[in-house]
Amino acid sequence: MDFTLSPEIEDYRLRVREFVAEYIRPIEADRANMDEHENIRDDVLAPLRDKARQAGLWALQMPKDRGGQGLPIVGMAACYEEMGRSIFGPVCFNSAAPDDGNMILLNRVATEAQKERWLQPIIDGKVRSSFVMTEPMPGSGSDPSAMKTTATRKGDSWIINGRKWFITGAGVAQHFILMAKTSNDPRKGLTAFLFDADQPGWEIVRRIPIMGPEEHGGHCEIHFDGLEIKDENRLMEVGDGLKATQIRLGTARLTHCMRWTGMAKRALEETFDYIGKRESFGLKLADHEGVQWMLGEAAMQIDIGRLLTMRAAAKLDSGDFARKEVSMAKIVVADALHKAIDTAIQLVGARGYSKDTPLEWMYRYARQARLVDGASETHKMVLARYLLNEDIDFWSWD
Ligand SMILES: Cc1cc2nc3c(=O)[nH]c(=O)nc-3n(C[C@H](O)[C@H](O)[C@H](O)COP(=O)(O)OP(=O)(O)OC[C@H]3O[C@@H](n4cnc5c(N)ncnc54)[C@H](O)[C@@H]3O)c2cc1C
Repeated sequence: MDFTLSPEIEDYRLRVREFVAEYIRPIEADRANMDEHENIRDDVLAPLRDKARQAGLWALQMPKDRGGQGLPIVGMAACYEEMGRSIFGPVCFNSAAPDDGNMILLNRVATEAQKERWLQPIIDGKVRSSFVMTEPMPGSGSDPSAMKTTATRKGDSWIINGRKWFITGAGVAQHFILMAKTSNDPRKGLTAFLFDADQPGWEIVRRIPIMGPEEHGGHCEIHFDGLEIKDENRLMEVGDGLKATQIRLGTARLTHCMRWTGMAKRALEETFDYIGKRESFGLKLADHEGVQWMLGEAAMQIDIGRLLTMRAAAKLDSGDFARKEVSMAKIVVADALHKAIDTAIQLVGARGYSKDTPLEWMYRYARQARLVDGASETHKMVLARYLLNEDIDFWSWD
């Protein structure tokens, strides 16, 4: 078992780290660089994205012949963690959700013609994208089989009707990947489609206000009223929607873990200066055993999550779906993120509750980690199913 990064990956990791420190953190430090939804302003982001491109750090997850860097998932894990050490980091490298997961899915399963039309502009940073799956009650949330949005065949087109919500980025996305119901078959009842924001037959009903800072384009509720999608814009075969979702979410969930690990590390970093200087009851805070226990616990939880993330990454690179491993990483890293941020806020005292540090931003953001891309409870359900099915082999070494 060897956790050494290859020289190529280590080189990328160090260059991402330097880029974040030199160019992104100074921008992040000034709240004037935020838009009204507390994300980086577009006019501030654009030059940073150009710079990342020039530095050869653009779209690490995409193939070189499409303008990316062709890193394996293990390499992404090392680099995304570095990006996550700034709250503005991932989007500067074109590695933020949901574009990241959408690109990975399209690169894996789209036809060459579909890649040219739908994927390449996302890689090039010319358009943003959304993944459209979750529905309001009684539609699909944790359980995709409850999907109510329908795609009905009409000649060489499909007609879409229904409602979706919490669609990240929909307010600015041009390219959409949509899941809709095409039959009642429990395993093969869903199909994936691609559509463009300029097509008629759909509308954003509202941008849903949330407790945390928002991704660009917010989290939107969408109504489909006869959107027509040509059959050539169907992704994979009819009935392959669940498969497409699993392919997308497998890696996308793990890339969340990679970025969140970086954010958790950053949260602890935010305490170092303060607890190294601030004195209470005759000792520096860092010298109090109680403080050390808090720090040690949070640091250990981060590393546990990180090891699970790396194991899942290696398994995905080997061609496995790594469902168990991804679920474990997602549960543990989401909790480690909460733990680290909460610890950091506690340790920097009143300042942690202020907007003078990014900790309060992270605290509000982090609450979504236990919900998005599968609530922690549903991942535990998946693990229990594996356990009951595999018995003692659940803990195999392969
Ligand atoms: C910030 C944010 C961004 C999002 N972005 C997108 C997006 O871009 N595209 C998209 O399609 N969706 C998106 N979502 C939706 C997200 O994927 C869903 O919230 C998630 O899948 C859970 O579905 P639900 O909200 O309908 O919860 P429900 O399915 O109603 O579940 C509610 C709660 O019940 C519990 N629960 C559910 N099932 C089980 C079970 N089997 N066992 C035990 N407990 C259970 C869990 O605690 C769960 O949190 C986003 C959500 C958020 C908060």
